Amino acid sequence: MTEHNGDIDAASRQNKHGLDVPKKMKALQYSEAEKFAVVEIDVPEIGDDDVLDLHYHKGEFLARFPLIPGHEATGTIAATGRNVKNVAIGDRVAADALQACLSCFHCTRRKPLLCDSLLGFGGNVPGGFAEYCRYPARLVHPIGDLPDLEAVLVEPAACAAHGIERMQIEVGSRVLLFGCGPTGMLLAQLIRLNGAAHLTIASKGGPKLDLAKELGIADSFITISDHQPQVEMAALASANPYGFDVVVEATGAPTVLEQSIEFVRKGGKLVVYGVYDEGVKIAWSPFRIWENEITVLASFCSMGHMPHVLEYVKSGKLKLGGIVSKTYRVEEWAECLEVVRRQEVVKAAIVFD
Ligand SMILES: [Zn+2]
Repeated sequence: MTEHNGDIDAASRQNKHGLDVPKKMKALQYSEAEKFAVVEIDVPEIGDDDVLDLHYHKGEFLARFPLIPGHEATGTIAATGRNVKNVAIGDRVAADALQACLSCFHCTRRKPLLCDSLLGFGGNVPGGFAEYCRYPARLVHPIGDLPDLEAVLVEPAACAAHGIERMQIEVGSRVLLFGCGPTGMLLAQLIRLNGAAHLTIASKGGPKLDLAKELGIADSFITISDHQPQVEMAALASANPYGFDVVVEATGAPTVLEQSIEFVRKGGKLVVYGVYDEGVKIAWSPFRIWENEITVLASFCSMGHMPHVLEYVKSGKLKLGGIVSKTYRVEEWAECLEVVRRQEVVKAAIVFD
């Protein structure tokens, strides 16, 4: 900690809102892939336009590997820079995970999400898994009294909201969603709120599909088993001879993506929503895409969609409860990873308090 950092150096004193900011904090730090330890490091410094966010809970997309720790964050503002107007010390907030440079080729063409110098909190800049985190104030959004374990889902819901914008679902559409992990559950709800007359979820069985059924987030649920997936996929196809207006692949499995196109109705859309290994290639028939005028589109992540998501949450239309079903302390990270690997939980969160 350097001497010019007034706010934070004044720490260990209580500020007027009673939040005590120490000089050191606990954080989970990866030294390299798969090597991690809980360490004691300096609390970040903040600039005039930044806030310091005290993290009680950190969510994570635990269904996906490799992990980028701590990009789904919620906490309480512990300090603010002198120019900060949108939030105050003591506010509970959710944090957007991405910061665009605003000056590269794509940013200057109104495509900040496709920024060439994108900063990802918890990815290439320090994020999650620490007691405190620095964010530009414009990336944090007040969440009122939304419970912490629901607030960690605002970031993935924002990604889903961007996906909805990309899909432009026509009124009265029939939609097929492959996969119902935490992100699929958020996507499913927003799909039904944005033009879909009928939503089918197709997924392998297990706690995720069970929860999706319990939450009633689709009109129809199809189990694709591990032992005879082709039989169930064929049954799904014959039950829907005209296919679907929109097919969303959200499992991240290349074989599912490859088959997804078979379910797209003439003139329909295929949405690449899952995260696939970079080296993966699949085979599609360009003739089919041409003859049926299929649109293939993708949704990468989100930027600036949190206020929109919070509107859905406030109106009670987007349900976030029940999806994060287990919490761990940062010291229990290895155990948390193992439980998620075994798919015993739908989604877990790391808790600081
Ligand atoms: Zn940029």
